[in-house]
Amino acid sequence: MNPYQMITNNINETQEIAKRLAKYLKPGNVITLEGDLGAGKTSFTQGLAKGLEIQQTVNSPTFNIIKEYQGRLPLYHMDVYRLEDEHEDLGFEEYFFGEGVTVVEWAENIREFLPKELLNIKISRLEAENRRLIQFEPIGDQYRELCKEFFQHENIST
Ligand code: ADP
Ligand code: MG
Repeated sequence: MNPYQMITNNINETQEIAKRLAKYLKPGNVITLEGDLGAGKTSFTQGLAKGLEIQQTVNSPTFNIIKEYQGRLPLYHMDVYRLEDEHEDLGFEEYFFGEGVTVVEWAENIREFLPKELLNIKISRLEAENRRLIQFEPIGDQYRELCKEFFQHENIST
């Protein structure tokens, strides 16, 4: 079983987890959010933004593809669900290797542009209406370390 997972019972719990995760993030970190429509990817990003001390309201960037917010670190929020051509590079690397934290919804649509190391977070609906399984899938040493610290220090029971 994946040791880095938890269940949330409502949107507030999901956002609280994301908010706490934000403390562990550094410039250049990339998080991909995996999950069906309505799973909670944008809600998770909103919690993360709170944790990054972003005052602005974060909403779905579907029509802009990329939105940028200023906080303790900049947040680059991408939603590439409606990307017309998945081989078109919209300058993604500038964000991935920039000074901020990048969060990507529907990252599978830009697979060829993603960095080698990243933290994939999978959100799945469970039977009960507001229950979600949140699974952290670190790729690369720095993200494995990040998950280890986060789950230990924040006392998250799995
Ligand atoms: P996505 O970006 O994945 O399409 P959203 O974050 O926009 O999803 O929407 C998630 C919806 O599910 C919101 O309406 C939210 O209130 C609801 N919801 C219910 N339970 C949860 C939960 N445990 N975590 C996150 N969202 C939840
Ligand atoms: Mg969304």
